[in-house]
Amino acid sequence: MRIDDLPVRDELRGKSPYGAPQLDVPVLLNTNENPYPLPEPLVRRIAERVAEAARNLNRYPDRDAVELRDGLAGYLTRATGHTVGRANVWAANGSNEILQQLLQTFGGPGRSALGFAPTYQMHDLIARGTGTAWISGPRNDDFTIDLDAARAVIAAERPDVLFVCSPNNPTGTAVDRDTVLALYQAAQAVKPTVVIIDEAYGEFSHQPSLLPLTEGRPLLVVTRTMSKAFGAAGLRLGYLAADPAVVDAVQLVRLPYHLSSVTQATALAALEFTDTLLGYVDILKAERDRLVTELRAMGLRVTDSDANFVQFGHFDDAHAVWQSILDHGVLVRDNGVPGWLRVTAGTPAENDAFLDAVRSVVKDAGTKEL
Ligand SMILES: *Cc1c(COP(=O)(O)O)cnc(C)c1O
Repeated sequence: MRIDDLPVRDELRGKSPYGAPQLDVPVLLNTNENPYPLPEPLVRRIAERVAEAARNLNRYPDRDAVELRDGLAGYLTRATGHTVGRANVWAANGSNEILQQLLQTFGGPGRSALGFAPTYQMHDLIARGTGTAWISGPRNDDFTIDLDAARAVIAAERPDVLFVCSPNNPTGTAVDRDTVLALYQAAQAVKPTVVIIDEAYGEFSHQPSLLPLTEGRPLLVVTRTMSKAFGAAGLRLGYLAADPAVVDAVQLVRLPYHLSSVTQATALAALEFTDTLLGYVDILKAERDRLVTELRAMGLRVTDSDANFVQFGHFDDAHAVWQSILDHGVLVRDNGVPGWLRVTAGTPAENDAFLDAVRSVVKDAGTKEL
């Protein structure tokens, strides 16, 4: 039996599961993880807090994750200068689960979601998984959002949910405040539309968080994660900030006790170490900028990046270049964007290994466009 022999839903036929290759290679720069392991004092604090939680594992976890939401609200308030409280914040197992809950609530059969390609593939996949039709809008050649084209697609397609990924994965492009406001207005002019700002890479951006825009805009939702800046991809903790009514609405679809006591305890320990963890973000931002400079110095094209990764090209055969870099022991990401590859900012030594690999690939190819 193969999948297509099973009576799977029509919209899942012929699809592939999401996932980058998990290869055993010395330098892994393909999934935008933070290269720095959690510091030992935090590891010990997690062990303490998890031990405490373990003593109560016969009980269900706090279904409303109250202490954790207070902690996340405090972090957001400090990080953005915009005051949010527990009622504005909701947490789940990774921001992917947050996105799924939002689409279960505001999308679904007969409804549609719009995003601007190339963008995070999971927006499309989670939409389809929840029975929401996916609409792909265009970008400019420099990967910024083409506002006129966006307004036209919104008017023609009348989406129920609009995704704005800022900074955008895989291009690294941040979306400025005025563009977001224009998109929000254009969408609301057609019908009430939930606008999801995916700020998974917000901490790495040159531009301030778009969180303050949620004030007075009840259909604007900002999603965040501890997978990238907090260096805790293995934890699976994502969250949203929005009008309290949005938090109330997702209660209708969340599974009861979705966030385990162990997860809540671990995330609370990580929040105690916010300042230490964000110290690594400064190193990674400097490394990101170095990657941009050095790749450009090799004559390559690099998209301006506000994230912890860099999109570079332009190659006639990006997949062949991906393979050549891999042959040098460095795994980067081929997202299928024609001509472009993506590299995550790693430690300085990992980035040196990557830059050396690219230098030899470029040299082997001579001066012709790769
Ligand atoms: C990595 C990433 C996420 C994070 O997903 P988690 O489920 O929180 O690990 C969300 N959005 C984008 C655009 C990402 O690149």
